[in-house]
Amino acid sequence: MTKSYVIKPELGKEYPVISHGKGIYLYDKEGNRYIDGSSGAVTASIGHGVEEVAEAMYAQAKEVSFVYRSHFSSDAVEKLATKLAEWAPGSLNWTFFVSSGSEATETAQKIAIQYWQEKGRPTKNRIISRWMSYHGITMGALSMSGHVLRRKRFTSLLADYPAITGPYPYRKPEDMSLESYALACANELETAILRVGPEQVAAFIAEPVIGASGGAVVPPDGYFQRIREICDKYEVLFIADEVMTGVGRTGKAFGIDHWGVVPDLMTLGKGMSAGYTPMAATIVSDEIIETITKGSGSIMAGHTYSANPQSAAVSLAVLDYVEKHQLVEKAAEQGAYLLAQLKELADELPLIGEARGLGMLCALEFVKNKQTKEPFALSGGVGGKVIQKAFEKGLLIYPAMGGIEGVAGDAVIISPPLTITTEQIDELISLLKEAVIAVQQELQDKALIG
Ligand code: PMP
Repeated sequence: MTKSYVIKPELGKEYPVISHGKGIYLYDKEGNRYIDGSSGAVTASIGHGVEEVAEAMYAQAKEVSFVYRSHFSSDAVEKLATKLAEWAPGSLNWTFFVSSGSEATETAQKIAIQYWQEKGRPTKNRIISRWMSYHGITMGALSMSGHVLRRKRFTSLLADYPAITGPYPYRKPEDMSLESYALACANELETAILRVGPEQVAAFIAEPVIGASGGAVVPPDGYFQRIREICDKYEVLFIADEVMTGVGRTGKAFGIDHWGVVPDLMTLGKGMSAGYTPMAATIVSDEIIETITKGSGSIMAGHTYSANPQSAAVSLAVLDYVEKHQLVEKAAEQGAYLLAQLKELADELPLIGEARGLGMLCALEFVKNKQTKEPFALSGGVGGKVIQKAFEKGLLIYPAMGGIEGVAGDAVIISPPLTITTEQIDELISLLKEAVIAVQQELQDKALIG
């Protein structure tokens, strides 16, 4: 093999070279087949090799791929924004296009701060987030993220934003009902706002279902309803980060739809173009756009690739495909089947503390002791082993680390394309089971678990 100069996630390690993909399967150049059990990074939600998307991409490239947004709009961008306005709840009608989830959340942060400036309240410029959260890798997005591993090297450069506890039902105090736990967690937002002072807080940001930093952690009913009330009471904007949960992944158009709550801003990425091109978005309410239009008249954000027709045409083809094949409904149905199979695994295998999820966003959390729920000291350590074993067996899954080492969380995300069939779920589960059993055996042999 010729020397590689690509900076890869693990330096010095060799990676297989991809050949092609079809549906839920990927093939490397050695001829090995893999089930894409997490849609890459919860991204390839309509599966690989979809002809309609390839055709839309070619058709747009033949016309024009790139124009700068200061000069032109395009049919593709206009149609996509209209479709997103139809999909999104309430008055979330306006889309600012970007190219990655990090850009989308950082744009939301900037728009929230600008909104209060336009209203003559410039001290409202801090964003409250949750400890267990991931909103992106750029400095603004990382400032709002609790992901300890990703923050570690840059802490001194990050904005000093308050963070609160997110609901984590698996580890709730045993003597507390789910209902009061939901309210207690949400009420932490009120405490944080009052501590900092409402006149200092621009927005609260949360993932409807916690992804990369927790592993499909679903909040109890009542949580987001109470969050909305608190945001309204103290005039704090609510940003729903739907980068992972959006576009059908959880069995509704958007994760927050499960609780009937309408945010003021919403971010999308990943499933929005299902990996066919980089594409992401910040969707905002009529009220925000009206305020900024009356004020300075322009949003202070933007990137060279914002609103390029090529990515918009692809994203439009992806959304059409989701609608045509009723993939939102399928995510709910097949996701329920997937979760039931994962729960059976959890009942059987002591290494699995919990199987959880919503729609086609599921996870397994590994624990040292199933009875006491004692976590492993190194967050992600056991999940990493399971991911490696699964990979060797031809199954790709995604890491989710609690972010607070030794306190909570060592999980893997199972989030296959929304197109997966029941038989394919069975195939996925059997490989996953083999991988977990192999790691469990290794840990038992070393007397690291009971
Ligand atoms: N928000 C959430 C909820 C995410 O899961 C991610 C990526 N895992 C991001 C933001 C950042 O997206 P990107 O990696 O595309 O910048």
